[in-house]
Amino acid sequence: MSEPRKLQHFIGGKPVEPNSGEYFPSTNPATREVLYLAARGDAVDIDAAVQSAAETFLDPRWRDLSQTKRGHLLRRLADLIGENAEELARSESLDNGKLLREMRGQMATLPEYYYYYAGLADKIHGAVVPTSDRQVLNYTMREPLGVVGAITPWNSPLTLTTSKLAPALCAGNTVVIKPSEYTSATVLKLAELVIEAGFPPGAVNVVTGFGAEAGQPLVDHPGLAKISFTGSTATGSRIAASAAGRFIGSTLELGGKSPNIVFDDANVANAAMGVVAGIFAAAGQTCIAGSRVFAQRAIYDELLQLVADRASSIRMGNPLDEDTEIGPLAFEDQRDKVASYVDLGRDEGARVLTGGRATDAGLGGFFYEPTVLVDVNNQMRVVREEIFGPVAAIMPFDTEDEVVQLANDTEYGLAAGVWTTNLARAHRMASRLDAGTIWVNTYRAMSPMSPRQGFKSSGVGVEHGTETMKEYTRLKSVWINTNEGPVPDPFVMRS
Ligand code: NDP
Repeated sequence: MSEPRKLQHFIGGKPVEPNSGEYFPSTNPATREVLYLAARGDAVDIDAAVQSAAETFLDPRWRDLSQTKRGHLLRRLADLIGENAEELARSESLDNGKLLREMRGQMATLPEYYYYYAGLADKIHGAVVPTSDRQVLNYTMREPLGVVGAITPWNSPLTLTTSKLAPALCAGNTVVIKPSEYTSATVLKLAELVIEAGFPPGAVNVVTGFGAEAGQPLVDHPGLAKISFTGSTATGSRIAASAAGRFIGSTLELGGKSPNIVFDDANVANAAMGVVAGIFAAAGQTCIAGSRVFAQRAIYDELLQLVADRASSIRMGNPLDEDTEIGPLAFEDQRDKVASYVDLGRDEGARVLTGGRATDAGLGGFFYEPTVLVDVNNQMRVVREEIFGPVAAIMPFDTEDEVVQLANDTEYGLAAGVWTTNLARAHRMASRLDAGTIWVNTYRAMSPMSPRQGFKSSGVGVEHGTETMKEYTRLKSVWINTNEGPVPDPFVMRS
């Protein structure tokens, strides 16, 4: 058998050998086949990448490029992603086990993010401020920050990287990315496309490797002007502390334990599909997974039946096959974590209505059956902690006030779903739920145009939309004295 190909870091516009000389394997979680070997990055590699990004930030070819031309580059990058979409989708599906169909969908949408920020590039500007002194011109400028560090997880590598990269480049920053150790390939390919699009070498750099060895040195690097992170709440908290210690900004998109609430006036068949999509899509490995399902008492049994029937008929298999509906967990530890949570649920008194078993699906991979837990309550750890797998906990409720209290009784605040045909109730719930994104009669909708933000332990700062541009720019206030007369004596008080 041939040796798997080696993927080097991407620094200064070209592949670079890791300082350690070491590579680590990335495996297909559906089959355990080794896909490639990725460079094992360390602090020396990170330093080289940050230096490259810092030099490019000051390079007149980038610094003095007009905003319109920055937009052209982003547009060209979007075109190239579109042209390479099939390769990127296959590569991502092999790496993290998500359905090829889903990754094709993500890759079809990805260019939209770059087109959106391409359109925004020449619309970033300050304002003239009317101060009380008419002989002074005061205006503001929105400037890029400098080198932005981006750290991303494995579940949607390119989409989550893009949420950071597109606005960061749009604003004129340069970027160093540390992708998840489980999914290095597509982010490296994206960096190549960035150069092919015409960005200067060093505008985007990628150092692959492990969180402790490559991620932490990036977070702690003194050359960084900002850190943008998507991942677990525990790591996000450490990153926030490091950034705060140096007074640099951080944007953090973290975990969730989102409620999906079905009222008895809802179209129950639609709601059941929304519940299934919310928790079993991507094998539950999404931050926005609707893992806590609340069903109003009158429709509780009906909803349970519909969800359990669909969950037990979901086709598990190779993510590359067109008729597969659920793939594996992204790696063995993740599968084991899901299994141990379901065991914990059983110990806590939960009943497994359907699913509840690890399997290799006849492929040797890290699969776990779509699982529905009942006889659960808000105090159990399976209901409070993020499992990040295909496990739904379904609970009955009686009143709107009760479900608001239950839904908000969580450390997280990323998203929430509401299923109702009562318009007044829909608006009331949107206002009362303590989460950054509320979906009514839908779940998992997302757009580059729509800002999103996690509340409480789900994050800090906004991604997407025009709002995120504030995260990647700094505001400067400029005062110009237009009075050509003598500067007054400072000790004569002005009236
Ligand atoms: P982790 O926090 O473990 O890892 C995320 C990234 O951080 C990886 O690249 C990881 O490297 C790196 N990392 C780990 N430790 C450090 C460190 N000390 N310093 C710097 N970087 C570090 O999260 P997961 O990869 O397990 O991703 C799943 C989590 O991400 C879930 O909690 C999920 O909710 C959240 N998520 C949030 C989203 C959102 O938008 N809110 C979207 C998607 C996921 P390595 O891979 O080597 O561990």
